[in-house]
Amino acid sequence: MRVALISEHASPLAVQGGVDAGGQNTYVAHVARSLAQLGHHVDVLTRRDDPALPAAVDLRPGVRVLHIPAGPPRFVPKEQLLPHMPAFTRAARQLLAHSVPYDVVHANFFMSGLVGLRLKASFRVPLVMTFHALGHVRREHQGASDGFPPERIAIEERIVRGADRVVAECPQDRLDLLRLYGADDRRIVTVPCGVDLKEFAPVDRALARRRLGLAPDDFVVLQLGRLVPRKGVDNVVQAVARLRHIPKLKLLIVGGDAAEPDEALTPEIGRLRALAREGGVEDRVIFSGQRRREQLPACYCAADVFVTTPWYEPFGITPLEAMACGVPVIGAAVGGVKFSVADGVTGFHVPPRDPAALAARIEQLHAQPALARALGRAGIRRVRTLFTWDRVAGELAEVYQGVRRPRQAAAVQAAADLDLSQPGAMA
Ligand code: UDP
Repeated sequence: MRVALISEHASPLAVQGGVDAGGQNTYVAHVARSLAQLGHHVDVLTRRDDPALPAAVDLRPGVRVLHIPAGPPRFVPKEQLLPHMPAFTRAARQLLAHSVPYDVVHANFFMSGLVGLRLKASFRVPLVMTFHALGHVRREHQGASDGFPPERIAIEERIVRGADRVVAECPQDRLDLLRLYGADDRRIVTVPCGVDLKEFAPVDRALARRRLGLAPDDFVVLQLGRLVPRKGVDNVVQAVARLRHIPKLKLLIVGGDAAEPDEALTPEIGRLRALAREGGVEDRVIFSGQRRREQLPACYCAADVFVTTPWYEPFGITPLEAMACGVPVIGAAVGGVKFSVADGVTGFHVPPRDPAALAARIEQLHAQPALARALGRAGIRRVRTLFTWDRVAGELAEVYQGVRRPRQAAAVQAAADLDLSQPGAMA
């Protein structure tokens, strides 16, 4: 099949860990690669955010990244991208009008979904949608600090009605689509995220610790991900502040917008430092700054426990990465984390925004190293069975197969419907 993956703000080429670069970049990069390995051709359409980017980049055999001109060719926060979507749509229409037809458009995030709806209307190409995050859910948790335009929710509602399939990433995501958007259950498919088991696997812990400047007998709690308030990193700092009686406990915080921790670029670091000072654990909290993917296995494997306690989480790839490295995970019982971490089997669930509950579980794993190791081993088994990208791509390919139309007929019909020779046909 020929697949167009639209990912307006999250390019598979982007560095990860910054404010706007996270799970969606990982998802799009791996879905594209694994689909290509299954023999499909994938074009990723993403916004050109740097004038130096070529129009097309061959990422690997079967995967091209197409940089779509829409808005200024520089970084624009995703909250401000909606006004540039008409330009994105025009450029994508041009592209589809002049390329071999795609069997399916798979849009990621609501703005890409809007583009997808318009492409579907113009070319009759089936639309598969992964939201990655839902405006209603964000509003419930972030209230007035949600910087997305208010139209977001109405756009999502249109996509839910108009897409051929909506991919829920976990059972909670499906329930949210049903509860908040009145989605038709028959058009929802649940396909989780994955993790690359070649990229994330146990490595020598002593070596990993030496590289990170950690002592062999430190008890290392790891927090890794974007440093934004909703990730609840403050909860982790506050939990660690309750564990001052555990000697040599360290909290390693990986993430931010630069390789060095920079409070000006990442204000959340300043807030967390102040909390650590207040809690008397400033010397125990280490900010490493953003780390490149190839450095991440060492970060995970250096840890005794991985913690992630977001307020909400559409999926959350980091628990999978930690499990793939054999590290037990204590995660907030929300969204995808509740689904990926098996409570009592690969780690523990804790309520979000509850430092005391988190501290109790960290303390338990400190006291019971054999249990921690067993949970870590179970994590490896769990991701191998349920969360490989090959499996995810295979399931998505089945979803595409279920909605694709015979290509010839669709192309002829689209050409008849849309007379591209007319001025204004691209508008
Ligand atoms: N990440 C990274 N370097 C960092 C911090 C995070 O590469 O310094 C990656 C992390 O490994 C994961 C992604 O960014 O693959 C975060 O994805 P997740 O789904 O956990 O959260 P999101 O950012 O999508 O909310």
